[in-house]
Amino acid sequence: MNLHKCILTRNDCYTSGRTITPRGVMVHSTGANNPTLRRYVQPDDGLLGDNRYDNDWNRPGTGACVHAFIGELADGSVATYQTLPWNWRGWHAASGPNGSANNTHISFEICEDGLDDPVYFAKVYKEAAELTAYLCKLYDLDPEADGVVICHSEGHTRGIASNHGDVMHWFPRHGKNMDDFRAEVARLIKNQSGKDELDMTKEELVSCAGTGDNPSGWAREHTEYCKQKGIFAGDGAGNYGWQQPITREAVATIVHRALEVAGLADSIPDA
Ligand SMILES: [Zn+2]
Repeated sequence: MNLHKCILTRNDCYTSGRTITPRGVMVHSTGANNPTLRRYVQPDDGLLGDNRYDNDWNRPGTGACVHAFIGELADGSVATYQTLPWNWRGWHAASGPNGSANNTHISFEICEDGLDDPVYFAKVYKEAAELTAYLCKLYDLDPEADGVVICHSEGHTRGIASNHGDVMHWFPRHGKNMDDFRAEVARLIKNQSGKDELDMTKEELVSCAGTGDNPSGWAREHTEYCKQKGIFAGDGAGNYGWQQPITREAVATIVHRALEVAGLADSIPDA
């Protein structure tokens, strides 16, 4: 997750200052074709870019506010911006006959594009799953328990949100539904906490194949050691790409760092 922070301190929701005990996470998408974070999140921190139209949400009178946005930075890369303290009462769900998810759920908006680009979708889906896993861990929530991780349209069905279709007008276009999303969040939490490893026999663990940033079972001790010691520093966005090929210059950097950790690099010039 590429997490940044820009609290919308001028939004009336922030200044009203009410807090909640988070019991879930509600997933929204913006309903407008504009994937840029600067449309909603300002001021420009050098990454967001400037919103020349002065219609961002960091202003009084906006009438809505969520805890985070996922979308594109000025350079086109995807990031998450926290926009309210996580335990603030957001204004994202309105209400239904059974109350309001504003009182129970942390919320985030995924900035929509034209809804058909699989590359953008894959990036924001991954970012959303990682953010949700992070929040579930933070508040000790089970993402697969009933009503914990839900989208806006599911909230409407449950009678705790207004009648909006997000995100079910978008996710299924790319072969995903909210059950897939919850399962992915649960998988991320297990991999992060190592809980799954406790449930595996040694043979199962060793043969467990890695994906993306998750190392294979046999390599976990080594990858974790290299992370902890700073021998392998990733690409700066929290991505280690454990399944990716590596260049010789990167190998040289890693060898140098390893020798430094071992106290054997004194005679080698600094890299
Ligand atoms: Zn919504």
